[in-house]
Amino acid sequence: MSAPVIALPTDSLSRLGLRISDTIHYQLPPDELALHCLHRKEAVRGDTGALVIRTGAFTGRSPKDRYIVKDEVTTGSVHWNDFNQPIDPAHFHRIFTAVTTWLNKAPGLFVRDCCVCADPRHRLNIRVINETPGGNLFAYNMFLRPGEEELEDFHPDWQILAAPGLTLNSTECGTRSSTAIVISFRHRLIVVAGTAYTGEIKKSVFSILNFLLPRDRNVLSMHCSANKGPKGDTAIFFGLSGTGKTTLSADPGRRLIGDDEHGWTEDNIFNFEGGCYAKCIHLREDKEPEIYHAIRPGALVENVKFYPGTDRINFDDGSITENTRVSYPLSYIRNSLEPSVGPVPTNIFFLTCDAYGVLPPISRLNPGQAMYQFISGYTAKVAGTETGITEPKPTFSACFGAPFLPLHPGRYAELLGRKIKQHGVKVWMVNTGWSGGPYGQGSRIQLSYTRAMITAALDGALDKVEYHPHPVFGMAMPTSCPGIPAELLNPRNTWPSPTAYDEMAGHLADWFTTNFRKYAEAIPSPEIHAAAPVRPGRNNAHP
Ligand code: ATP
Ligand code: MN
Repeated sequence: MSAPVIALPTDSLSRLGLRISDTIHYQLPPDELALHCLHRKEAVRGDTGALVIRTGAFTGRSPKDRYIVKDEVTTGSVHWNDFNQPIDPAHFHRIFTAVTTWLNKAPGLFVRDCCVCADPRHRLNIRVINETPGGNLFAYNMFLRPGEEELEDFHPDWQILAAPGLTLNSTECGTRSSTAIVISFRHRLIVVAGTAYTGEIKKSVFSILNFLLPRDRNVLSMHCSANKGPKGDTAIFFGLSGTGKTTLSADPGRRLIGDDEHGWTEDNIFNFEGGCYAKCIHLREDKEPEIYHAIRPGALVENVKFYPGTDRINFDDGSITENTRVSYPLSYIRNSLEPSVGPVPTNIFFLTCDAYGVLPPISRLNPGQAMYQFISGYTAKVAGTETGITEPKPTFSACFGAPFLPLHPGRYAELLGRKIKQHGVKVWMVNTGWSGGPYGQGSRIQLSYTRAMITAALDGALDKVEYHPHPVFGMAMPTSCPGIPAELLNPRNTWPSPTAYDEMAGHLADWFTTNFRKYAEAIPSPEIHAAAPVRPGRNNAHP
């Protein structure tokens, strides 16, 4: 069967300033995009059929080069901060013109119409225009793929122009460097210049949804993965980069709804995307079979190396970056659920990768503690997703996603708090990081243990055990859990020196307290304040 011929939307591309020519490739299927990549020598094929590309100088997001146009739409509504950096409309116009001029000179252009938001009530149409076929394949893999009938009368709500090869003139463009990722809410445009890291495309779309959905539709947008159990219950997993959203949501016993971005409405949760973007570093078939087997024709692998003289990927080679990645359509995970919609969640997990070995591997949070942890958004950033991070560093990122939140974090926190209470959702905190000591001394909690603890929470086993409060952080630690040695459940017992543990717990408590100060005044609820850590000897310990 030959591919359907869908007409190139010439008028609307011309309106953007793009020159119509026969080098514009519209809506190419993935195998044809792959051939373009290979022909242009921008990719090679691995032994399992997946395409392997390099993304050049950028192998992670570049938050310092990300801007939002400050105009009548955004001035009073965007929470301007280190992540939401303003750029004025005149500079945006220059960047946009530089991008279209560049794209008009490119040897080819790859245009793809797709959409986001699996709940049709909230669907947005997105047109992605790439300088490279690899970028366009990423868009195919990651966003929702409209059917032929939907394409016949497709009007993009938002358009993305990606010109990775372009070097901006930073003086003229008012940017920090020759790279920029710019969002214009007024023009409903995203432009990406000077970086080929594909994650910029997906996370800028996430950022616009984080503005539009809570503001206009009362939908909570969330940086989380989601899956659905055999009894129909959904679970969502919040967490910053590297904490385990993608890994832990790929669970052979549950249907995958999505691995990174979701919305929570009055009556459901839904995936924004149509694909996954998984880390590949140290990937093992036995530990993460779902992801391992997704690396096949159609999948796009970034910044990995082969074993010398072969076309077999060496997943342990982090010499280009630790942040090696693969994108693939959601359906590449056996058991994925499409349309990717599920009921209101029964369980919420906050994933944190605590490199200091302080937080318990699993614990239960009361509503006040849940809000405190959500606002804090703690993890220790490990090497990877962001340029320049090579060793662990404590990070507090409100709502487990501050770089992607255009509104004040309080808006999202308030929505979540209300929903947790309204639906009586159980909230768990899971430390996927260190145990037995900090990074360098202890070791990372075994993935198989983390999976077993999550399963125990989901199947109700942890409803039947006893708990005791953490002396500093207050969360309830189970005293037993099926499949887990009991001594692992209380992190203090895993350290060679309990006093060294207490000291480290004190440091972590101080970091939490210092971070929370910036929100403290805006939070009236005593319940949330009561969830702050207490340093033994300074205050009353948790009861
Ligand atoms: P991002 O937002 O960047 O996509 P993420 O939250 O999806 O990040 P993952 O891609 O799931 O994070 O990364 C977790 C990484 O940590 C994986 O490489 C996984 O193999 C590894 N890992 C090691 N031990 C554990 C554990 N106990 N729990 C979860 N992940 C673990
Ligand atoms: Mn992920």
